[in-house]
Amino acid sequence: MGADLERVLVTQEEIEAKLVELAERIDEDYRGQDLLLVGVLKGAVMVMADLARAVHSPVKMDWMAVSSYGSGTKSSGVVRILKDLDADIAGRHVLVVEDIIDSGLTLSWMLANLTSRGPASLEVCAFFRKPEAAKVDIPVKYVGFDIPNEFVVGYGLDYAERYRNLPFVGTLAEHVYGGSKPT
Ligand code: 5GP
Ligand code: MG
Ligand code: MG
Repeated sequence: MGADLERVLVTQEEIEAKLVELAERIDEDYRGQDLLLVGVLKGAVMVMADLARAVHSPVKMDWMAVSSYGSGTKSSGVVRILKDLDADIAGRHVLVVEDIIDSGLTLSWMLANLTSRGPASLEVCAFFRKPEAAKVDIPVKYVGFDIPNEFVVGYGLDYAERYRNLPFVGTLAEHVYGGSKPT
């Protein structure tokens, strides 16, 4: 798997330190409140599992899976729910945990959808964020890393379902794509 990588952008150590930092802020911000973490499948599995263990608050966890129609690796903002939440979030404090925000189209659709269910509060934790996300107005309370506008894999992020289990984040070598590099 190592030979497929071009370079590492965020190391395992950096990821671990960031999780502790974000967890401290979350503990502080939600002190004494019931918090529901909503992970977005499948990319957020790693950050959700690690963040939930790093916080000391007794959180609950739920999952949502959405598919965003688009050409190849770019999302279009047309979103379909593949798996909805098990829980009713009306009146609850909800923190959406996302792997990465690129265009922000998927997340802005999700936030509108979740808002309509009447949560007591709704915030976002995005572990990675690309510069393009700054063009859409999504209030992200907790950001892990701002990364360059490149296609990355690892720590939950895939290319054709591979590389999710890398404990760090990096870019793939040209040969992996066979000439059609995702943008
Ligand atoms: P957006 O709607 O913000 O453009 O993209 C949403 C989804 O596209 C992310 O949740 C993620 O699943 C996928 N995505 C965006 N950028 C990347 C990337 O650099 N690498 C990988 N593997 N997936 C990405
Ligand atoms: Mg995602
Ligand atoms: Mg993917």
